[in-house]
Amino acid sequence: MIGFTPTAEQQQLVDTARGFAQRHIRPLAQRARQDGPPQDPWPLVKPVFEAGAQLGFTRLFVPQDLGGMGGTCMDAALLLEELGAADIGLASDYFALTACMPLMAMRAGSPSGEAFLKRFAEAPAMVLAGAQSEPDVAGSELMMAGPDPAFGPKLSARETADGWVLSGRKSAFITNAGAADAYFIIARSDPAQPVFTGLSIFLIPADTPGLTVGKKTKLIGWPLTTHAELVLDDVHLPADALIGQRGGAAMTFASVPEMPIGLAACFVGLARAAFEHAKEYAAERRSTGRPIMQHQTVALKLAEMAINVETARLHVWQAAAACETDPMRAAMLLAPMAKATAVDMAIRNAELAVQVLGGYGVTTEYDAGHYLKDAWIGWSCDFTRDVLHLGIAQALTGDG
Ligand SMILES: Cc1cc2nc3c(=O)[nH]c(=O)nc-3n(C[C@H](O)[C@H](O)[C@H](O)COP(=O)(O)OP(=O)(O)OC[C@H]3O[C@@H](n4cnc5c(N)ncnc54)[C@H](O)[C@@H]3O)c2cc1C
Repeated sequence: MIGFTPTAEQQQLVDTARGFAQRHIRPLAQRARQDGPPQDPWPLVKPVFEAGAQLGFTRLFVPQDLGGMGGTCMDAALLLEELGAADIGLASDYFALTACMPLMAMRAGSPSGEAFLKRFAEAPAMVLAGAQSEPDVAGSELMMAGPDPAFGPKLSARETADGWVLSGRKSAFITNAGAADAYFIIARSDPAQPVFTGLSIFLIPADTPGLTVGKKTKLIGWPLTTHAELVLDDVHLPADALIGQRGGAAMTFASVPEMPIGLAACFVGLARAAFEHAKEYAAERRSTGRPIMQHQTVALKLAEMAINVETARLHVWQAAAACETDPMRAAMLLAPMAKATAVDMAIRNAELAVQVLGGYGVTTEYDAGHYLKDAWIGWSCDFTRDVLHLGIAQALTGDG
């Protein structure tokens, strides 16, 4: 059995992250909610991201001998819950994604991945992005494609005498597109092979000729984030742009359960923020001579919200702990369970917060309505809840 008491170092990380989130992230998020989403949020976010990188947040998984923090998935879960409580979009897109991407380079098992890790360790304020989904391919196909080579991403990677040429488009959902310094792009290196063996990962610096940022997507929430299409027009790459083995993208992805767990931890933060917001309001607002939290209709909602936070957090911590002890179980079962559950709990808590605030819950003046929109974004990002559940079912039944 394991306990869930943070070590002294972990508590220090939590305290640092909480202070940072209060000082740097929360004011920015409040302004974006009140004033509406900035046209280009990145210039506003950049100094915050750089300050977080200075504190080591983006180097969390980089080994200590390379100048990183040598942290565990549990450390990441603790850190990202704090950042997610202040602003889910900023936490998950800039910090969680950038912190987790180097793991892909680490686990891909190639000299090019190791070389990238060293470069990243020296420039931790580098923003990273990952591009799999494409405009004309259902995002779910990446997970559900099975053995048919007709399904899955189509962006082509053609091998040449001295490297690769990539052509095609990535969907307008690519997180950090435009802000990123480098992209991990999934491409079809072998069109006759299915998703599991036909896709490869390429690392492409943002200023590579032929790579452009296309149409932007506006989300219903996450006002400080940026998502856009990537267009690759005969992008010539050296041979060492290939990260890991040719055809090894799916295996490499599966070897990084920290990615969905990190995202899930951000949603624990959101579930907690919605609870704290509702509790604070319920202590102040009075009806028939007493605070509304003393009315059972409200008290029971607060109790449910507190249970939801613990449920989500326990799922995330269990999955994070398994990354050290049983990474296969973490990847196949516990990480998708944690992501699906944390998002469910965040949505439910945001709904309950809207109810606790009554009419004010549906005004833009209070956070409850913003939390609801923010929480729903989690339902489909990094695979829909249903597709995650199907994947869990397949892993349990051995089907597919
Ligand atoms: C905020 C956000 C950030 C994102 N960031 C990135 C990113 O950085 N990089 C990236 O590559 N992508 C990114 N995405 C894309 C994301 O991964 C996809 O949106 C997601 O996987 C769902 O794909 P889709 O939108 O094409 O939905 P679809 O796959 O079209 O699914 C539509 C509906 O059909 C269901 N469905 C589809 N296929 C099946 C099936 N075979 N079996 C059962 N049900 C099915 C789904 O559950 C869903 O309800 C992001 C998306 C969002 C919302």
